[in-house]
Amino acid sequence: MQKRSMLIPLAILLALIPGMALADNAMMEELGSKAARIAMQELDVQKGDANLLILTDAGHAIIDGQTTQAAIKGLSAESGNSVGDGNLFQVLRAHFKPLWFYFFDKSDGEAVYLEVNSEALASSPEAFSALENDKVFSKISKAFVDIDYLESHTDEGNATFNEKAFNGNEGSLIPISNVWARGGSFDFVQATCFHDHLCPGVTSGLFLAKYVEEKLPITNSSESYKVISCPNWCKEDLLQMRWDATPGKSGMFVMALSDKERKAVPGIAGIFIRWNSTSNDGDALVLAYNTSSMESDWTGPAWGSKIASAVALLNHTDSPDSFVSTIKEFKVDQEKLSLMQNAGMHPLKVAGVL
Ligand SMILES: [Zn+2]
Repeated sequence: MQKRSMLIPLAILLALIPGMALADNAMMEELGSKAARIAMQELDVQKGDANLLILTDAGHAIIDGQTTQAAIKGLSAESGNSVGDGNLFQVLRAHFKPLWFYFFDKSDGEAVYLEVNSEALASSPEAFSALENDKVFSKISKAFVDIDYLESHTDEGNATFNEKAFNGNEGSLIPISNVWARGGSFDFVQATCFHDHLCPGVTSGLFLAKYVEEKLPITNSSESYKVISCPNWCKEDLLQMRWDATPGKSGMFVMALSDKERKAVPGIAGIFIRWNSTSNDGDALVLAYNTSSMESDWTGPAWGSKIASAVALLNHTDSPDSFVSTIKEFKVDQEKLSLMQNAGMHPLKVAGVL
């Protein structure tokens, strides 16, 4: 009796408070549809246009306890874009970050960004359907973002980056769009979405991976790659995706280096191991990466240099040897592997390169 007497006032209370309705999947789906409708109108593209790229953190963002993956269903239904077509990607963000949608038209390099006003999702489904666009989205903005265009229109680029046209997501979304537009492979774009952004650092991960795959190819199901990441930079996120070399499964151990240690082993990128889990041994490569290759001949404002470098590097993905070199090659047994992974040891000293 006591429980029931508490539940009745609670039910009355909830019924009396407007805006307490929790956004459901149908509302999320409609949100994705709304975003696609607005953007496609702004960019003047039709459903199924192969020039359209959609990026979103839907599925990662959580709004007031409601997961947001259903928005992707709305995006796909309205635009025709999908993961399968390689023109819709989920960009990793922490769940507490805002939900946003980004649309890029390859044909003219124009992009539209929409950020969701989370309060709009607290409306009832009927009220939500009737909301004006500027109530559903706290920001709707448009800019030309192709790097070749921006090179000769730096004033527009300054406005986009300095005034945060995409609420601080410019450095993440604009390089991804530029590389996608120039034929960046699905797996590469997907890995950069896991990294949050596309930069010369994550691209270096691709070159290192290709170099290792050529020198130490995987030949049977007992083999996998392990990375003693020392020092770490953006490359590690690509390696985790490409090789399933995650720290949680002991595929990667991440350690920083002091400036002095970095100088002692110029270009040091880490120790890359092809490990055989049946024979419990493997082959290791200590590799260097030529970081000067990350620079481009961009002479414009600072916001453009990473985009220009990432685009320029795309032309060299088949020649990792131009950027990667072997410092040392050696055999690894279980004892040596354990030493390199141990927090109390210095992996470069165990490997004999420091
Ligand atoms: Zn990066």
